[in-house]
Amino acid sequence: MKPLNRLNFSAGPGALPESVLLLAQQSIVEVPGVGLSILGISHRSDWFASVVAELENNIRELLGLSGNYRVLFLQGGATQQFSMVPMTLLRGKTTPADYLHTGYWSGRAIAEAGREGPVRIVWSGEADGFRQLPGDGEPVFSPDAPYLHYVSNETVEGLQFHHVPGRDDVPRVCDMSSDFLSQPCAANRHSLIYAHAQKNIGPAGVTVVVVRDELLQDAPTNLPGFLDYRNHIQSHSNYNTPPVFAIYVVLLISRWLLNEIGGLARMAEINRSKAELLYRLLDNSNDFYRGRIETRDRSLMNVTFDMASPESEKRFLAEAERAGFTGLAGHRSTGGIRASLYNGLTLAAVEQLAGFMEDFQRRYPCA
Ligand SMILES: *Cc1c(COP(=O)(O)O)cnc(C)c1O
Repeated sequence: MKPLNRLNFSAGPGALPESVLLLAQQSIVEVPGVGLSILGISHRSDWFASVVAELENNIRELLGLSGNYRVLFLQGGATQQFSMVPMTLLRGKTTPADYLHTGYWSGRAIAEAGREGPVRIVWSGEADGFRQLPGDGEPVFSPDAPYLHYVSNETVEGLQFHHVPGRDDVPRVCDMSSDFLSQPCAANRHSLIYAHAQKNIGPAGVTVVVVRDELLQDAPTNLPGFLDYRNHIQSHSNYNTPPVFAIYVVLLISRWLLNEIGGLARMAEINRSKAELLYRLLDNSNDFYRGRIETRDRSLMNVTFDMASPESEKRFLAEAERAGFTGLAGHRSTGGIRASLYNGLTLAAVEQLAGFMEDFQRRYPCA
């Protein structure tokens, strides 16, 4: 395969490693050892059952999960989990669930939870434009909330928790869509983790859910079948036709993480070097590139910054696009620039972007 001629800095779907793309390409024509295209392999085949089993084991190994967790591969994206979580844990309850309002995506989760039951916003960063997160031990969490919900990495703003919020005696539920498997994540301190694949670990179409058995004990029994986690557990993520191709690509990513990268601690080191390179550049740019986020809470996945004027940002984005750096425009709700540095994006790609940014500042010093 010849190298791609553009580098994907998009906030999602993200870049995937070239070795994985090659294997995915091959599987479209014929899965090695099976003699069929992956697009036509039955989800009831032994081969697919072995894909699900291996992927589940790989995720268990990467996260160091204990035996009382189930690993599921669902559809509907993170957005469906915004509803499925409160349907399961909040319906009919009178005690509110605790939610942290730290940015755009946690706001979306809160709106959906409110349809199912009472919600208490424990802490909100809205008043100061979501530029920081609550400090470790800062918010007062309720001891009798049915659960606490938070978003580990706010993709739009570029905020990331570098500690685990909440109390150990209240179930933690976390949307890890934009930093799942990018670093170790204290999975065993959570009761439910969800993450769609399309940022760090694969294509759109599949969402990983890691759930502790005890959490589902008192779930309502009259949920729609598809929206009841227990049906997916019983059927080994094969309750209806699952997205076979997307799940296979996530398997390839999990093998890449284990065998080529060498685990999540090593992945975290690489991700840290990538982000530090850009943050150092922002900090040394004399406010040419203006980081948005409080240093302590900066995301290793989404580096957000503004420039002096919307015109300079427009010129920056246009020239970056011409130079082969794509997906750098900030979210439609915030504007500005956002460089997303997911697992599949190499350090070399970030070095190239940094080179472009230094050169741009030299060429337009007053922009
Ligand atoms: C992108 C994103 C979502 C939206 O996910 P969908 O799969 O499109 O539903 C939710 N949460 C976070 C943290 C995200 O980054």
